[in-house]
Amino acid sequence: MIIHLRSNVNKQEASQIAEGIKAFHIISNGKNVLITGSGIKEVPEFISDKVDAFWTFPNDMQLASRNYLSETRKVKIGNVTIGGDSKNTILIGGPCSVESEDQIRNSAQLLVGLGLTTLRGGCYKPRTSPYSFQGLGLDGLKLLAKMRDEFGLNVITEARDATHIQEIIDYTDVIQVGAKAMYDQGILRACAKTNKPVLIKRGFGTTLQELAQAAEFVMSGGNENVILCERGLRTFETGTRFTLDLCGVAWMQEHTNLPVILDPSHAMGYAYGVPSLARACVAMGIDGLLIEAHPDPSVAKSDASQQLNHNQFRDLLDGLKPVAQSVGYKIV
Ligand code: PEP
Ligand code: MN
Repeated sequence: MIIHLRSNVNKQEASQIAEGIKAFHIISNGKNVLITGSGIKEVPEFISDKVDAFWTFPNDMQLASRNYLSETRKVKIGNVTIGGDSKNTILIGGPCSVESEDQIRNSAQLLVGLGLTTLRGGCYKPRTSPYSFQGLGLDGLKLLAKMRDEFGLNVITEARDATHIQEIIDYTDVIQVGAKAMYDQGILRACAKTNKPVLIKRGFGTTLQELAQAAEFVMSGGNENVILCERGLRTFETGTRFTLDLCGVAWMQEHTNLPVILDPSHAMGYAYGVPSLARACVAMGIDGLLIEAHPDPSVAKSDASQQLNHNQFRDLLDGLKPVAQSVGYKIV
């Protein structure tokens, strides 16, 4: 249950009430908001005169539910807004991993040259083998921050464990919680304690409800700037790396109030399918795309086969613009 307290209840009183009923307490749009489990369907008698409005839910998707907030929430990524009535589809491009200053500068120049706003690059890579490239860590974050300063780009990178969150907050504009990390409650709880946008990738074996509940961990802790990301599920198929779940995207758009970003690069696993998949994604009227691109994919230290080269990335953008326009969106 979500409860909005009356405006004459102050913050301290609200927090005492929250403690008394074992609820989360956040300040949302200047209001004291309490959140209990969805099993609670009635306002406790002793606070009934302090309640302005309340909502009940069939399950624990609450703050993220359209039944609570019917419009898509606005999330600001640097100077770009997605969600709300912005009709922006943010095209986030860049390599899987930050590998060197030359490489990431080349990526930044590509984006700036195309009028795009947001650079991705992993610094703490969640690899499936300990012998693969693990990312440049803090040195990589510093390179991203340098690109932000030099080019005015927003930057996004992923958190592999909770100990990195503070560094990522210090050096970047969006915290990416990866497909494997999204079950890590240390990471989710740390993300709740900042106001930086958090992009939560759906795990490859994660139900939509579980994804929504990962978002609830962050939101109920006080950070409502959450973005959902579909990046492909593991199925019986081995011809492609994963299977992009567009049905799931339709579900997120119907049932959640969070912006939705799609990542066809990791779903496909091969560069050849990425541009056409990206067009299909944009045709759904989405809030953003995450596309891996590398100055020379053949030498990439991670995810080499799925990264576009820069000519392919330019062509991809050309192909997306009319599709976005046809559904009333703009690529930013
Ligand atoms: C990535 O974005 O480079 C990445 C590792 O993605 P995922 O968590 O979806 O596998
Ligand atoms: Mn990758």
